[in-house]
Amino acid sequence: MDKIVMKTPLVEMDGDEMTRILWQYIKDELLLPFIDLKTEYYDLGLVCRNETKDQVTVDSANATMKYGVAVKCATITPNAARVKEYDLDEMWKSPNGTIRAMLDGTVFRAPIQVKGINPCVKNWVKPITLARHAYGDVYKNTEMKIPGPGKAELVFTDENGVEHRELIHQFTAPGIIQGMHNTDKSISSFARCCFTYAIDTKQSIWFATKDTISKKYDHTFKDIFQEIFDAEFKEKFDELGIEYFYTLIDDAVARVMKAKGGFIWACKNYDGDVMSDMVSSACGSLAMMTSVLVSPSGVYEYEAAHGTVQRHYYKHLNGEETSTNSVATIFAWTGALRKRGELDEIPELVKFADALEKATLGTIESGRMTKDLALITDLENVTVLNSLDFIKEIRKDLEALL
Ligand code: NAP
Ligand code: MG
Repeated sequence: MDKIVMKTPLVEMDGDEMTRILWQYIKDELLLPFIDLKTEYYDLGLVCRNETKDQVTVDSANATMKYGVAVKCATITPNAARVKEYDLDEMWKSPNGTIRAMLDGTVFRAPIQVKGINPCVKNWVKPITLARHAYGDVYKNTEMKIPGPGKAELVFTDENGVEHRELIHQFTAPGIIQGMHNTDKSISSFARCCFTYAIDTKQSIWFATKDTISKKYDHTFKDIFQEIFDAEFKEKFDELGIEYFYTLIDDAVARVMKAKGGFIWACKNYDGDVMSDMVSSACGSLAMMTSVLVSPSGVYEYEAAHGTVQRHYYKHLNGEETSTNSVATIFAWTGALRKRGELDEIPELVKFADALEKATLGTIESGRMTKDLALITDLENVTVLNSLDFIKEIRKDLEALL
């Protein structure tokens, strides 16, 4: 069989720990034998980020804007322990945070549903797609430890040098403060991304914030969504019989637990971070979820929603067998390859992405799976595979399909 030829390179962002190991297995077993893979490679592993003073992350985001489609491996966001472990010059920022701040846009995450793995929330018969705002709030914050008594204020100096002040707190003892921001432009593009995605997928969309408490910050999100919906999307929604529904975040959480699924749940940046982990783990495993960042300029970055699976990596380093689920990382690749195929009009690449997804799901449905899924499946006669053997089984099914 001839290998599929690509036109434009994919931006490939390599990562850390166990997912870096899976990354190579996936390329060797599932991609390189079938595709003349064209990528522009950026090593976002922590060692290289440290050596380049994190310039590699910025370069990879710029390349994504240039080419339009990227695929990203999970990466370590350093904390104090990682600074020690990797002897870092600095506690580098989250690569996802840096990339999202540059690309702007919205992260859409949906569970990968497969026969034999049922959500533990019994009434979720259809997937819930999470739309996470990918810019600002606590991910672009400024924080301060307050050493003792004093006055903390919020100060905005306008272009004419006029200061506007609000008291945060009159401290009488040590404490902490935090400043965050967002922009009307980013919130507007978040709203448009969500409404457009709802129309594309013919699903209703829910949005929730805490506007009763945050009367300016969160209320602005609510107002912008409503204005854009009424002015640009309402008619189309009515035509399709789908709805836009706003409520308070705590009400949304309560309703989601009782819902049937089949809708998009739009969340502010932090809510989306936390709630997508809840939805995905309720659907089986963090590794059974797709994640794509869609920027307002039409740029796509595909990734897995889970982390670098550190515990498994240390086992791997000790020579112990691991059974790490590679499905989310495989789907990051298929999402990116399919999008590249659509943009460059390479139908074979689109077909290949479809076949690889089908082979992956088929492998699980036939009872061959990793340990995380074996623990929760209601299939009988299950074979638990190690990380590499699972990928090799997918390859067998893929070869049969192609
Ligand atoms: P994690 O890598 O998501 O793993 C947490 C636990 O979830 C694992 O120990 C494992 O449970 C289970 N798990 C996650 N993915 C799995 C998979 N593919 N297959 C099987 N089990 C899986 O989160 P973490 O350990 O808290 O974070 C590790 C590193 O990842 C951190 O340095 C963090 O900064 C980074 N991180 C990166 C991203 C990203 O790049 N998108 C996102 C989140 C976290 P068991 O050990 O019980 O098997
Ligand atoms: Mg998270």
